[in-house]
Amino acid sequence: MKNIADLHREAGGRCSYCDRLTYLTAGEGGLDALAVREHRIPRSRGGGNQASNIALSCYRCDQIKGRSTDDEFLDRLARDRRREMDAIWRTNLKRQDEGGAD
Ligand SMILES: [Zn+2]
Repeated sequence: MKNIADLHREAGGRCSYCDRLTYLTAGEGGLDALAVREHRIPRSRGGGNQASNIALSCYRCDQIKGRSTDDEFLDRLARDRRREMDAIWRTNLKRQDEGGAD
């Protein structure tokens, strides 16, 4: 398996899932931003240790992703983002309504 420092450099330090900057030690960015090697297809679901199955991830994404595949997890993140955008949009519309016609 590729070592974490090489993987981190190749990925520009960014988490493959949430795109945040990750750090090689928890002291730099906190435990949630710690860089980890992550199996795109989890080992428990048949994924291997070959380079193509290893992604740089922040510790937080790694923990939340759990036994999902990378595709399943990215779908979930996109769904959450859409929900967030819907909520912001609804708040915006409400504000415009309350502001009256000016
Ligand atoms: Zn992440």
